[in-house]
Amino acid sequence: MIIERMYVEHEEGSVSTDPFVIGDEGCIYKATQEAMLSQAEQEAGKGRSIRYITPFVPEQNMQHLYDCIYSLAGEKKLKVTFNDYGFLFRCLDLIKDGNIIPVLGRLLTRSIIDSPWSDEIMKQEEADLSAAVLGPSFIHEAKIEVLNRYNIYELEVNICAPSFIEEWHRMGMKVTGYANNALISIGRTCYSARWHAITGECSGTEACRSPISIELSKKWSRKNFMYQDASHQDRQRYGGMYILGNAVYRQQDSADALAGLMGNYDYMIV
Ligand SMILES: [Zn+2]
Repeated sequence: MIIERMYVEHEEGSVSTDPFVIGDEGCIYKATQEAMLSQAEQEAGKGRSIRYITPFVPEQNMQHLYDCIYSLAGEKKLKVTFNDYGFLFRCLDLIKDGNIIPVLGRLLTRSIIDSPWSDEIMKQEEADLSAAVLGPSFIHEAKIEVLNRYNIYELEVNICAPSFIEEWHRMGMKVTGYANNALISIGRTCYSARWHAITGECSGTEACRSPISIELSKKWSRKNFMYQDASHQDRQRYGGMYILGNAVYRQQDSADALAGLMGNYDYMIV
């Protein structure tokens, strides 16, 4: 397994030679910040390999992000993680010409098992049905075949059961995990900006880059049309969840559980 290091702001001059990870899964502005891109260029110049995580991309930002990738994909092959099918299609020429190595990101590989309330949804179903549904979306030969047509042979996923990783390996896919968090969802607007009542460009603000933890205190009952106290189990469901910009993440459970799972992954982003 290869460890890859996520870019951290204001942490220039890192001496690590591990592959360098830049970009953002949620925010187009964070994914294209100048300081990060110029550091990536420097690191690439030193021969360090780069993984560029691209977010959900609004139409108006497509060309700019494409240009950022194009200028980084110079001498050394650049790995690009796609979290937007439209943008993947936009970069088809770079993929076909062998300028970048495409990877499918967590926003697209995420499935019902990553939802904190998936067991609650599925408990009404028959056991064999829920066993079939409660798995990653991409455990399927036909889907993998489609990805292969785009030269995609690697998936980024939230930490999941080792049997799933084995299944992907059997289908010829490499699997990348994230050691520190699980991606729950991404919104079109920035939750942090709304919480802090920031108007205008928010990605440069401290508020937008600091996690806000979520705690469940009440839940809405459609049956009674009123709020009810959340049970202990309800609270547990939301344990360790936090907002970062327009993304919702869950902190990875215990270090021990993780250590047991980590072995199967081809790459681990830390
Ligand atoms: Zn923001």
